[in-house]
Amino acid sequence: MRLSRYFLPTLKETPAEAQIASHRLMLRTGMVRQGAAGIYSWLPLGLRVLKKIEAIVREEQDKAGAIEMLMPTIQSSELWEESGRYEDYGKEMLRIEDRHGRHMLFGPTNEEMITDIFRREIKSYKDLPINLYHIQWKFRDEIRPRFGVMRGREFLMKDAYSFDLTPEDGVKSYNAMFVAYLRTFARMGLKAIPMRADTGPIGGDLSHEFIVLADTGESEVFFDKGFDKFDPLAVQPNFGDDLQPIVDQWTSLYAATEEMHDDTNCPVSDDSLIKGRGVEIGHIFFFGDKYSKPMGASVQNAEGKPVDVQMGSYGVGVSRLAGAIIEASHDDNGIIWPEAVAPFKVGLMNLGPKDENCTKTCDTIYEELQEKGVEVLYDDRSVGAGAKFTNMDLIGLPWQIALGKRGLENGVAELKNRVTGEKQEVAINDIASKLAS
Ligand code: ATP
Ligand code: MG
Repeated sequence: MRLSRYFLPTLKETPAEAQIASHRLMLRTGMVRQGAAGIYSWLPLGLRVLKKIEAIVREEQDKAGAIEMLMPTIQSSELWEESGRYEDYGKEMLRIEDRHGRHMLFGPTNEEMITDIFRREIKSYKDLPINLYHIQWKFRDEIRPRFGVMRGREFLMKDAYSFDLTPEDGVKSYNAMFVAYLRTFARMGLKAIPMRADTGPIGGDLSHEFIVLADTGESEVFFDKGFDKFDPLAVQPNFGDDLQPIVDQWTSLYAATEEMHDDTNCPVSDDSLIKGRGVEIGHIFFFGDKYSKPMGASVQNAEGKPVDVQMGSYGVGVSRLAGAIIEASHDDNGIIWPEAVAPFKVGLMNLGPKDENCTKTCDTIYEELQEKGVEVLYDDRSVGAGAKFTNMDLIGLPWQIALGKRGLENGVAELKNRVTGEKQEVAINDIASKLAS
């Protein structure tokens, strides 16, 4: 992508309304713009990041055996009256009346809708287990939307729903999501800790929140320092593997949010307990027949008797993750994108835009990178070198290539790693292949 033809409205000034680094940086880099409180447009750069996050979430869900579908954003109130949550959900639910006076709502979550789909279509234990998910916008009329996309009103969520015949099988489905979440967040460069959680309005028996540490996080958290030893990406399960030992390993260490933590009964000694703040990026629940019973979602078992199915639900805050990743990975100069979610892998800067040779050589590098499938943002604008460097650091692409007249004379370009700040000179002819590998 040529920057001269891109839509990247960066800001020099720090926007006054943004209180935390990720919000400031998302505005400054032109990733998002606010439409109304807690409601954002994703501009081209932001959308590229959102799509990458989404793709990682999708890959790990698919690998864990979940099946993607898509449910609408607008729902009818009827199903929520059946489950009893229409009243309970309170003011966070955006209620809408259609032209016929029917009560509709913008979905804050989809337990009711998926349970309805399930009960209409699935009648036999032979069709279980099944786990269905979608990645869809949600709306919650948060009392205090803040921190940009971290606590929005409209936000993108991956939500999966598992259906099993027995509670034991339900726990297996829960474990599959638990492990998928560990892998998902690690692939984005995040250290997420599963913490035993309160089940809240979704209700149920078993629940974990996945929390990444950040000083600006909304929850206070307490956990054993031993988590450092675990490597989520070392876990590469195959579909159907027994995952209980892995879940047992992760849950053997103490980790709790404020609501669940009790200082006097904490099993961890003071010198092993870390206190911090964190952001919830995922939340999983096993809640048995909480929805299947009132909504009549049952299947016939092997004896031909109807049994209410055992359900779980599994959420990932896809749009919140964009903010959480920046919160975890930035410096004074800007964002530092982990390669897996970076909007482009490389930023190419032409430092001699008025020089015909320099421009020609940069154009060639740009074309070579594209041919090799390397995502590149090419700063071909007629602005000073200083402005280009500052802008590239702000956007935070993992690699920067700078080529000016002096480099051209020596046949080398400068390659900078945004994480380490390390610079090296690379022969112009080799640079595209180097970045492709
Ligand atoms: P929170 O405690 O942060 O309000 P929640 O417990 O209400 O979240 P869940 O119902 O568990 O959220 O939703 C699943 C995931 O969706 C959360 O783990 C979070 O990552 C994301 N999420 C929830 N609310 C918001 C929001 N207002 N803005 C952005 N993401 C959100
Ligand atoms: Mg939650």
